[in-house]
Amino acid sequence: MTTPSNPTTGPAPELPDGARQRVIGMLGGMSWESTAEYYRLANEAVRDRLGGLHSARLVLASLDFAEIEALQVSGDWARAGDILATEAARLEAAGADLLLLCTNTMHKVADEVQAAVSIPLLHLADTTAAAVKAAGLTTVGLLATGFTMEQHFYRDRLASHGLRVLVPEAADRAAVHRVIYDELCRGVIREASRHLYRQVIERLVAAGGEGIILGCTEIELLVRAADSPVPVFPTTRLHVQAAVDASLATGRPTDRGGLPAPGTDVD
Ligand code: GLU
Repeated sequence: MTTPSNPTTGPAPELPDGARQRVIGMLGGMSWESTAEYYRLANEAVRDRLGGLHSARLVLASLDFAEIEALQVSGDWARAGDILATEAARLEAAGADLLLLCTNTMHKVADEVQAAVSIPLLHLADTTAAAVKAAGLTTVGLLATGFTMEQHFYRDRLASHGLRVLVPEAADRAAVHRVIYDELCRGVIREASRHLYRQVIERLVAAGGEGIILGCTEIELLVRAADSPVPVFPTTRLHVQAAVDASLATGRPTDRGGLPAPGTDVD
């Protein structure tokens, strides 16, 4: 019997012989609807970059979102931070070289998560801000959960990159938040909600928004570039791109894709 030969499974064109992708650690399930996108997009990006049968090296921890959402509503961010930090440490122990927290909202506890591991956390607001700045924009509208739009942890991080952040007015914020939790996190995509988001985007543009950050990882399931008169910044896609870039970056074996671990001296 002859062994069938497979096409192009040899060394990846972007990686030197013998080099392997760094392992992406995904901390997801918040909600799994968007984590499924993270998984698909990471594998598509690696396939597109390396060709053949290449796929993403990653480990995934997926939480029960009902538990996390209850802690959000009760304001028990300390407990939520503990849970996420524990999962992040498990991902590192499982071999992750870099970490993605696959939700904008839970970046509220990003510092606690980062403190629990020695691998770098790719902060969603940083990867998003880099894309906005690369597009030459400074004033952006933010669509996200109420927590992300109304609290400081995310807006201030964007502002630290020199961005001016506009959020919808109160009724629009409530409507955007409701669609995320009642529909998108449950896999429900409604044309009426797309229409609603388009109207909110129009109002943000009228207020001066030069671009729109889709600052919740489920929103890009509903809203596309064609739904906005100005550029949109889809945080899930941007986050995955940054992770794959870091995963495929060449360099010394100790170089984590240009992302030094906290406290590590890089010469
Ligand atoms: N995935 C969403 C986000 O990016 C919302 C769900 C959550 O609260 O984690 O903010």
